[in-house]
Amino acid sequence: MMNFYENKNIGVVGFGKTGQSIVRALESFGANIFLFDDKVIENSHYRNVENFDWKKLDFLAVSPGIHLWWDIHPAVQQARKFTIPIVNDLDIFQPQIDGKVTAITGTNGKSTTTALIHHIFKRKYKAEIGGNFGKPVLDLPKNSGFYVLELSSYQLESCNLLGFDTAILLNITPDHLSRHGGMEGYVAAKQKIFANPKQNSTAIVGIDDDYCRHILDFIRYPKVIKISGREVPKNGVGWYENKLVDNRENQFRIIGQNVPELDGDHNRQNIAAAYAACVANGIDAEIFEEELETFSGLEHRQEFVRLINGVQYINDSKATNADSVEQALKRFENIIWILGGRPKEDGIESLRPYFSKIKFAFLIGEAAEDWHEFLDENHVANEIVFDLKNAVKKSYEIAREKDVVLLSPACASFDQFESFEDRGDQFKKFVEELTC
Ligand code: ADP
Repeated sequence: MMNFYENKNIGVVGFGKTGQSIVRALESFGANIFLFDDKVIENSHYRNVENFDWKKLDFLAVSPGIHLWWDIHPAVQQARKFTIPIVNDLDIFQPQIDGKVTAITGTNGKSTTTALIHHIFKRKYKAEIGGNFGKPVLDLPKNSGFYVLELSSYQLESCNLLGFDTAILLNITPDHLSRHGGMEGYVAAKQKIFANPKQNSTAIVGIDDDYCRHILDFIRYPKVIKISGREVPKNGVGWYENKLVDNRENQFRIIGQNVPELDGDHNRQNIAAAYAACVANGIDAEIFEEELETFSGLEHRQEFVRLINGVQYINDSKATNADSVEQALKRFENIIWILGGRPKEDGIESLRPYFSKIKFAFLIGEAAEDWHEFLDENHVANEIVFDLKNAVKKSYEIAREKDVVLLSPACASFDQFESFEDRGDQFKKFVEELTC
């Protein structure tokens, strides 16, 4: 059977992990590719957008990092000028597959929730995991029964063919504002996860923040399940004391307890969402509970690394914004805090209520100078150490029994590291090298 993309002329913008998967997939469908990338790479037209013959393109496929509405990428500007349809990897993926899609978004908790849902689905179904977490969607097999996809605001913003079987929005707090031109653009992108429901689609919505509660009023889905990490919602799933409660029928059915690997209030939200996704997809409470207990959590998210002389070392490198750091500061006491990197818009002002728990802070990266001043003003003992190795060494020197050395940077990693994974791996390596 002829593929829709066969012999089409398709521009691809961006040649990172997702861009490469787009090129691979389109080439396998027999399309002719014209590559645009900001780096000079072989056969890339980027430096030549003005002179490129745009009329010959049937589509332009964009990678998630490409700006569409703010600081617009030159290739996108040209495509709009010549009215060429703009698509992304999800648009290409969705019509090709035969299976049910559970899509997960939110400012924080996406990867943990996606991994947890996939872990449980696998027990009963053939299920794939991908998207913003793990493999790009176009690298997934086409005929799995279930797809569990983490979607970022970037992917949602550029996707046209939305419409999922289960759509989950966990939470919204300020993040990635420069990419979306402000909070309004960011919320609009997240909200798109609920566009075009199918006949039996289920929407799962966190109700622990104002943005999500507002969105809830506008969802037109056949089934809506409210979830909370803090309370038991009417017609929803939430928590009462330490127990997960299924209150979808307002019958207050107790399901299970928090598990140690997913400790913390934030994970209660993630667990409630995973439970709602399971019941929406035919998995019962017994299976859910059994599989929850065997889920070991993800690397770089409040990950326990080592205990030295009664001091815990925790790798929370994935905490790149204040809201995710807040979850770690809430959970621990006597904290020696390693933070900094490339700062985001929201800063660390909102973390003030937890400053009394900070025994000392070591500052690294580009944010160090500004935050040093801010922490001084707020009477948090701190020192600029610039690099992570030094931060680990100095933390070790001052740490005493029952302290927690916490890498939870509240910043992106790109000023000093390749990625948050690289930052977390280096932290773990430096901690392993400590001799006691
Ligand atoms: P994401 O994929 O959305 O970035 P992760 O599951 O990778 O989310 O977790 C990123 C960071 O956010 C970690 O520091 C983690 O402890 C914290 N976190 C996880 N779940 C939540 C949640 N529901 N609310 C707030 N913070 C969370």
